[in-house]
Amino acid sequence: MNDVQCYHVEWLVCSDQSRSDVTLQLRDGLVISIEPGRTADAIELGPVAMVEGLVNVHTHLEFSGLKEPIPTTGRFTDWIRNVVKYRRENPELTSAAISAGIEESWQSGTTIVGEIATVGWSAADYAKADFKGTIFQEVLGLSPERIQQQTKLAGSRLTGKSIYSRGISPHAPYSTHLDLVRQSVEISLRTNCPLAMHLAETKPEIELLGAGTGEFREMLIDFGIWSGTQFQTPLKPMDYLEVLAKAPRSLIIHGNYLDDTELKFLASQPQMTLVYCPRTHAAFGHSKHPWRRLMELGGQVAVGTDSRASNPDLSLFAELQFLAARHPDLSQRDLLQIGSRNGRLALGFEPHSGTRIPADFTLIRLADSARRSPYPELFDPANRVFGTMVNGRWVWLAPDLANQS
Ligand SMILES: [Zn+2]
Repeated sequence: MNDVQCYHVEWLVCSDQSRSDVTLQLRDGLVISIEPGRTADAIELGPVAMVEGLVNVHTHLEFSGLKEPIPTTGRFTDWIRNVVKYRRENPELTSAAISAGIEESWQSGTTIVGEIATVGWSAADYAKADFKGTIFQEVLGLSPERIQQQTKLAGSRLTGKSIYSRGISPHAPYSTHLDLVRQSVEISLRTNCPLAMHLAETKPEIELLGAGTGEFREMLIDFGIWSGTQFQTPLKPMDYLEVLAKAPRSLIIHGNYLDDTELKFLASQPQMTLVYCPRTHAAFGHSKHPWRRLMELGGQVAVGTDSRASNPDLSLFAELQFLAARHPDLSQRDLLQIGSRNGRLALGFEPHSGTRIPADFTLIRLADSARRSPYPELFDPANRVFGTMVNGRWVWLAPDLANQS
């Protein structure tokens, strides 16, 4: 059994409770007591909020080596072509990029990651002590042969022991036949794993599904994977939602162009979560995102950074600051819920609730203005991440705190 650790903090903030001036006792990755005031053996962490750990439900760590995003201002398929080109030209960078991405996630306060892994990765890439997250094996293909091969791949990635949990990611409607999505759902039902799929991301995707035309058709022809028989029957994102709804849990990535009928359907499915990537959404200049509409309807929303191919960094904290600045009417509690609790639930991790509190925390140094609020303004632009704790261990601490703890 591990030793007990004690910390005094100005605030403890979880989605279902917030308390000021408390000492936490931690042992074996759990909070075992919360006492008012400071106990004699407590380490003083200063003017900070110890916050239910942030969860980045959607990223692709293989692109973490990019210094700046791939330009997002042209046609969407130009961006995809450049992403594919980068991956082809840099296959040897994958392991180092994953490692750098995990470090960057920790340094920006993220405790749990929803990661999409494609090819060329190994379990060793994620074998860092204290890495916590779900690795979704990406599958994609439009031809019957490819569907068979990718179904096998997904099945093989879900067996064996690992320290992280696993899932499957049918990539997107323009790259992944609906039959492969159905096969992925079958596997998820057999293995009780979650699914994640990019859906309704762009207007050209909606056009391809509805009419079989547009820039995606051109791209598929150029890639040599257009058979002429695909996309003959008009489809809508709803056709994919209905299939994904059968999985034990599914994450709908982006959903930028879901219509109101589709949002109402999502809201009626508590096992489904819409993943909003705010700064990536803004970088592509999409129409207004429907996340608030889904919240009004009672649906689940969680937040992701997407990758460094479309975002300048992997900071979930920065995503929440971005949202706080643009949605001042939304409470800090609601923002924390979509940035933490909803992500834990979507990925299948135990939430911080009731008496059992997992010791996954983001330590936020509060600016004076943020401290004056009865509930601290967690995502004030002057606040910064000061530490990240996963399973009761500090995976990162700001240098001035590291010596103390
Ligand atoms: Zn993505």
